[in-house]
Parts: sequence; structure tokens; C-alpha cells
Amino acid sequence: MSTIQRAYKTELDLNDQQLTACRKHAGAARWAYNWGLARKQDAYRKTGNSPSAIDLHRELNALKQTEVPWMYKVSKCAPQEALRNLDRAFAHFFRRAQLKQQGKLHGKLGYPTRKSKKRGLGSFRLTGAIVVFPGVIQLPRLGRLRLKERGYLPTGGVKVFSATVTEQAGHWYVSLLVEHEHVVPENSGPVVGVDLGLKRLATLSDGAIAENPRHLKTRLRKIKRLHRAVTRKVKGSQNRKKAARRLGTAYRTVANQRANTLHQFTSRLAKTKSVVVIEDLNVAGMLKNHSLALAIGDVGWGAFRRQLTYKAAWYGCRVVVASRWEPSSKTCSGCGWVDDTLTLADRVFHCEACGLVLDRDVNAAINLAQLAGSSPDSLNACGGDGAGLGRTAQVKRSSAKQEPDTFSTPV
Ligand SMILES: [Zn+2]
Repeated sequence: MSTIQRAYKTELDLNDQQLTACRKHAGAARWAYNWGLARKQDAYRKTGNSPSAIDLHRELNALKQTEVPWMYKVSKCAPQEALRNLDRAFAHFFRRAQLKQQGKLHGKLGYPTRKSKKRGLGSFRLTGAIVVFPGVIQLPRLGRLRLKERGYLPTGGVKVFSATVTEQAGHWYVSLLVEHEHVVPENSGPVVGVDLGLKRLATLSDGAIAENPRHLKTRLRKIKRLHRAVTRKVKGSQNRKKAARRLGTAYRTVANQRANTLHQFTSRLAKTKSVVVIEDLNVAGMLKNHSLALAIGDVGWGAFRRQLTYKAAWYGCRVVVASRWEPSSKTCSGCGWVDDTLTLADRVFHCEACGLVLDRDVNAAINLAQLAGSSPDSLNACGGDGAGLGRTAQVKRSSAKQEPDTFSTPV
């Protein structure tokens, strides 16, 4: 028995009054974030130090009496949590900056930027008295909000930490962060190696194949057309807003489909296999290669690893991450002979030492599966991009997400 933290996300069914209240809360959170960012930058320029979320919240409370009286209309949590997010954004930035200095990171540092309404209304987080009923969630200041799906959010037996309300393409969602007792089931499934690919989503060492549905690619034409429709319209016009909304909806559909495919696949792996060996792909580095970027983004490799990792912890499965330098596709899974001439175009592996002829990806997956015993590194927490839209659940991320080789969570 152990406790796990996870989030349940589901869609809200708001009436007009509630919609207005949610917009105000999201607006207050956005305002506080942008105000805090400007304050921090200003203070840093003048003194070399920057105020913390607690300092800023105190300052903001004083401001409410003079400059921003409208903020009394929203829960104090909305600006407070936004300022905490800002602190986290800076911590994230500094951590990445340090990694870059040590030469361990080659990517953007992610310096916090202003939040713009143009990029969606955003979100706000509430803490305190949160009560869940089968079809309703009760939140501070907002009251009882109807849910589109009955019975998904846990109504009892859990400790509720917070509720985050988010707008996405005109739809509103609530994500409930809870902690509950969890019994990890006995898992006696086989060991499997998973070779992630572009043409196929994944190839397993037992020969099974998960096809890549390529949602984005098939819908790309439509999305491109919608993009053009937006740019053709006059800036600031109603028609442009409408076109932008249609584009947002198309993207949301793709994101939901992608999330669904991945969730099904990662759940199946975690539930039915005792050990899953995956390759430590440098996803961020590969995304820089533009010809590969679209295909990889479509598969959602970062999301794959993140989901597999937290689900593995739930279902008693162990995830082993093979080193990035392990030549899994070039090595014969039968005898260990290495084919240095193998290229991406070679779909079949021919071993010149033992005569093995095998699908290239299956060969790679078998090599990965064979690493299960040799590597003691299990991985139960990791980062990656958050491609989860719609109804997703996730455990809290580890702060050590830039060091993907060896870490485990206390599950
Ligand atoms: Zn061989």
C-alpha cells in the first residue's frame, strides 16, 4: 500500500454566469502573472534581487485597495497561485540555465514570458474547500459547476489538493489534483523491448506492432487551410476571431486523438508487461531536425515516455531506459555482431555472422528487451512534453526531469 498523487481532468458544463466568473478568474491569474513578472524584472534590475511569490502576494493585496479593486471579485487563490507558477517558471529557467552552463542541455532556456489573451484565456488554480459530487464540482467563489461526465472525478477516499480550471478552444476543463491510497497489483507479465519509430508508433520485441495513426498528418491539409483562412482575415475583426476558433478546434481534435492513442497504448503496456525497456531518445534534440520534427511531434514520444512511466508505477511494471548510445538497431539480437553500415533506409536486418534475417525494428526491440536484466535502472518519473488534452491523468512530475537515466520515485 502506498499513496499516489494523480490528476483527473474532465470538461465543465458552465452557464453564462459561471462562464463570466471563470473568465474573470483566468483574467486575474493572467494579470497577476504578468504584473509579477514585470515587478521581478524591475526589482532585479534595480537591486539584483527579486521578490518571492509571498512578497508579491502581499504587495498585490495592498494594490487591490487602490489600483485593482476588481480583484476582490475573484478568489484570492487565482492571483496567489499564478504568482507561485511564476516562481516555478523562474526556478525552471534557472535550473535549465545551470544545466546549459554544465553543457548538459542544448535547448531553449525558457525565460518566463508574459501571458497573452490571444493565446487562449489560460487557467487558474484554486485550493481550499473543494467538494466533488457525482455530476458536480464545488469550488471556492465559483460555487457548484456541472460536469459533462458523471462519476469520473473521485467523490471520496481521496485527499484533494487543488483544482485547476483551464480554457482550451472555447471549452473549459477542471483538473483535480488528489492523493489516494493505491495497491500496486501483482504483475507477472513478460519482459518486452519497445522500439519507437516514425513509420510505426512502436515495435515490440514479441513482434507486435502498434501502428502510428498519424492524426496530425492526415489533418494537416485542413489545418493549413484554416491557418490561411485566419491570416487572410482583417486583424481584430470578428471573422478573424471565428477563423481562429475553427483552427483551435481542429488542433484540439488532433491533440485529443493523439492523447487517446497514446493513453491506450501506454496503459496496455503497463498493465500487461512486467518490464518495459525503452530507448532514451533525445527527443528535444531530434525535434530540431525539421524534416523529422513533424513526424516525431505527431507520435508524441515525450508524452509516450511520461505516460508509460507513471502508469508503470500504478500497475507494478518496471521501465528500464537504455542508454542513448546503445546501438540497438545495429546489433544482431542473435549473436551480437554489429552492422556499422546499417542506414535508416534498411528495413531488414541481415546478420553476416549468424545469418539472422529479421525486421529491423523487431531486432532493435529484442536488443532492448535483453538489456532488462543488465541494467538495474528503473525509471518511475520523468519529464517530457505535456501533450495530454481532454481526459488525462498524470502523477506529479519529478523535478529531476533533465537527468533521465537513473531515478525512481518512492512508490
Ligand atoms: Zn547474428
